[in-house]
Amino acid sequence: MATWIRGGRLYDVRGGGWRDGDLRVVDGRIAAPGGRPSGDDVVIDVEGAFLMPGFIDCHVHLCLPTEDGNPDNPWGGRLPGEISIHAAQAAERTLMGGITTARDVGGWDYHEIAVRNLVNRGRIRGPRLFCAGRLLSITTSTTAYYAGMYATADGPDEVRAAARQQLAMGADLIKVMATGALTSTEYEDARAIQYQLDELKAAVTIALENFKHCAAHAHACEGIRNAALAGCRSVEHGSFGDEDTYALMAERGTFLVPTLCVHSALLADNRASANLLPHIHRRYVETEEIHLANTRLAHRVGVKIAMGTDAGTPGNHHGDNTQEIVRMVTGADLSPEEAIAAATLGGACLLGREADLGSLEAGRFADVTGFADDPVRDIRVVRDVRLVVKGGEVMRNDLG
Ligand SMILES: [Zn+2]
Repeated sequence: MATWIRGGRLYDVRGGGWRDGDLRVVDGRIAAPGGRPSGDDVVIDVEGAFLMPGFIDCHVHLCLPTEDGNPDNPWGGRLPGEISIHAAQAAERTLMGGITTARDVGGWDYHEIAVRNLVNRGRIRGPRLFCAGRLLSITTSTTAYYAGMYATADGPDEVRAAARQQLAMGADLIKVMATGALTSTEYEDARAIQYQLDELKAAVTIALENFKHCAAHAHACEGIRNAALAGCRSVEHGSFGDEDTYALMAERGTFLVPTLCVHSALLADNRASANLLPHIHRRYVETEEIHLANTRLAHRVGVKIAMGTDAGTPGNHHGDNTQEIVRMVTGADLSPEEAIAAATLGGACLLGREADLGSLEAGRFADVTGFADDPVRDIRVVRDVRLVVKGGEVMRNDLG
C-alpha cells in the first residue's frame, strides 16, 4: 500500500525550480515517480500547493524556555518532569512549524534525548532529532546559568571522558565551546577562546572514532580557526571571523550555522527583551550588524551554510524556526534558493544524511512542507507553513 501526495508543485532544491508532480510514498520514503493510485492506496490531495522538503534546523535547544527572557538558570527550583514536558511540547511545535529534522546542540539533563527516543518510538510527535546531550565547556562562570546543559571538562583527558559520557547517554554528536558565548555571564567574553586546539582535537577524535561529528560554538576569530583546524564538522554562530578564517573553513569543508535570528527574534519580542539581563541585551544589539556582515563575507568566500536558529535563546521561540530562512535572505543576502538549500540539503549534508534527508528525490524520507504560495518568489511565505508530512504521515494539513 502506498500513500500519494497528489497535485502539488515539487521544488528541486538542487536546481531551484518547480515541476508539477505527485509524490508516491512507500514505507515512509519517496518512491520512484510513475504509476497511479490503486484501490487501497491513501491519497492526499494538495492541488496547486507548493511542496518543499521538510526543513532541517541544525541548532536548537529544545529544553530551554524562551518566554520570560532570562537565561539565568531557567529551571532552578522546578521539577525534572517539567523540563521533559516542556521539551516534548517544544519538539511538537518545532515539527508543526515545518522542521522535520532538528539537531539539538545542548540539552538539559538528557530530557531532549528522552524526547528523541519517544519520537522515534512513535509515542509523541516531533522532528527527527540528533542530540548532543550536554555541551562540553571549560570551567566558566556561565555553567551557573545552564546547570543541566554544561559538562565541565578541562584539558584533553577530561574532554575525552566528557565526550564519552555524552555518547554513553545516547548522544548523536559532540558539542564543544570553542569560545565564549553572548548569552553568558558578565565575566565571559565571546571574543575570547575557550577550548584550545588540543582540547578541540580530543573531542573531534572521540566523535569520529564513534562515527559521530563534532559541532563547535565559536564567535571569536581564533576559535573559529581552531574549530576548523581541529576538524569540527560545523561552526555555530561564527560571528567574528575574518576572510582568511572563512577561507580556511571553505577549504576544509567546515559548515557554518549562522543562527542570525538570535538577534532579530529577541529584538522583536518586547517581553523577552525587557526581561533579558542588560549586559546580554547590549551584546545582542551591538553584535548584530557585524554578525550579518561576516555571514555575508563567509558566504562570499564559499563557506557551506546550514540553517540553524538557536531556538531556545530568549524570545527565539520553538516553532518559529523558519524565521531564520527569511533572515538569511533579508539580513545576509542569500538568495531565496540558497537559503532554502541551506535549510534542506545543507542540513542533510552537515548531518551526513543526504541519502535520507533534504530533498524530494526518490529514496529520501517523505518529509514534506507545503505552502499556499511560492516561497521562492516571496521568502516570507516560509513562515506560513500549511502542510507538514513526516515519513509519509500527515502531521498537519491546513491547505484548505
Ligand atoms: Zn545554541
